[in-house]
Amino acid sequence: HLDRIEAVDGNYNAFLHVAGEQALAAAGEVDRAVAAGEKPASSLAGVPIALKDVFTTTDMPTTCGSKILEGWVSPYDATLTTKLRQAGIPILGKTNMDEFAMGSSTENSAYGPTRNPWDTDRIPGGSGGGSAAALASYQAPLAIGTDTGGSIRQPAAVTATVGTKPTYGTVSRYGLVACASSLDQGGPCGRTVLDTALLHEVIAGHDPRDSTSVDAAVRPVVEAARRGAEGDLTGLRVGVVKELHSDSYNPGVIASFDAAVETLTKLGAEVVEVSCPNFEYALASYYLILPSEVSSNLARFDAMRYGMRVDDGTMSADQVMAATRAAGFGKEVKRRIMIGTYALSSGYYDAYYGQALKVRRLIAQDFDKAYEQVDVLVSPTSPFTPWKLGEKVDDPLAMYLSDLCTLPTNLAGHCAMSVPSGLSAEDGLPVGLQIMAPALADERLYRVGAAFE
Ligand code: GLN
Repeated sequence: HLDRIEAVDGNYNAFLHVAGEQALAAAGEVDRAVAAGEKPASSLAGVPIALKDVFTTTDMPTTCGSKILEGWVSPYDATLTTKLRQAGIPILGKTNMDEFAMGSSTENSAYGPTRNPWDTDRIPGGSGGGSAAALASYQAPLAIGTDTGGSIRQPAAVTATVGTKPTYGTVSRYGLVACASSLDQGGPCGRTVLDTALLHEVIAGHDPRDSTSVDAAVRPVVEAARRGAEGDLTGLRVGVVKELHSDSYNPGVIASFDAAVETLTKLGAEVVEVSCPNFEYALASYYLILPSEVSSNLARFDAMRYGMRVDDGTMSADQVMAATRAAGFGKEVKRRIMIGTYALSSGYYDAYYGQALKVRRLIAQDFDKAYEQVDVLVSPTSPFTPWKLGEKVDDPLAMYLSDLCTLPTNLAGHCAMSVPSGLSAEDGLPVGLQIMAPALADERLYRVGAAFE
């Protein structure tokens, strides 16, 4: 895989940092253990991985795709990083991403965009476009992403790979640089549902270092994927979300989705239409809650504690802070800090942030009602196939619209997966099927995903 990265990543820019020596040392340790007849550290021991550059690592920089953290090396490993190391999974390097995980195309990275291996003039999705492109171009067999509003699922959809956003709180956020803390969730990415399930079980689990970590047993997702692979969904009830099926989506996406629903029926599932009327407000709610949390979380980049510092020696502390943030943050990050600061300000709080929280609750209630009728919900993962680089960079609203189908799951704290659903008949580009399930029912995603793929 290191050779492959060396040979092809110039075409894609999936990696921000490659850690060849460390990866080979970790692989060597697995070889040594095997030769000594020891039990492998995990079922994935020796299988290398690409890690999104938002998890801290003591032996490589962590930039979050931002200039403000250029060259910064964390003094501690994220819990997820530790779990990968303990499982004997060599970390090949850190992958490109939209700055601080804000974006849907990886064009908001300070280190240049990542290109989609299916067509290098097109976006690989975002914010985890680097991880998805590394998988799709066979530079890594496994990858890690984070999903705050779709950043694992949408890149998976547009690169024909698999990605899961686990139930909120089941994968530790300790050492995951925060975007929006009530939404952020690390998760597994792979080229098959079973690979993704194996990785899911490695990274999930309670962590006392994360105050929102769920103290529950890891869901049996590997067993569910194996069972699903037998291809029988008899007895499973599937709901098609009426509000996530629209004429405004690419016709090729809708055609692929309708065919996927037929496939699920053929596999024995009972498919019904369900309505989640408040999903219509998910985008408006998310794009107030997320910037509000961002404006608070990113206050830590104050030029004193981390990374970059703009200081000509005559400036006051306030001036150093302002100059550093002006130079260090990109346009989208600044936009969200401003929106969030406004939404949280006295006099506006109730009208914006408070209202958005109420909508968040209504969305969760829509899900609860739907899950009284069905076991899983399905929709397209993204309304669009991968678009051309540059097409939406100057139109933030158009960019946000690509998150329509993925946002409700994050707002509710539930889990969801994207699996490849073939190529669009319209443009020949990848389409993803989104499978959603209630909190702590992640195994349902894997059963359905493995049966479908
Ligand atoms: N595209 C969404 C956003 O820009 C999702 C980001 C994410 O999941 N990290 O906020």
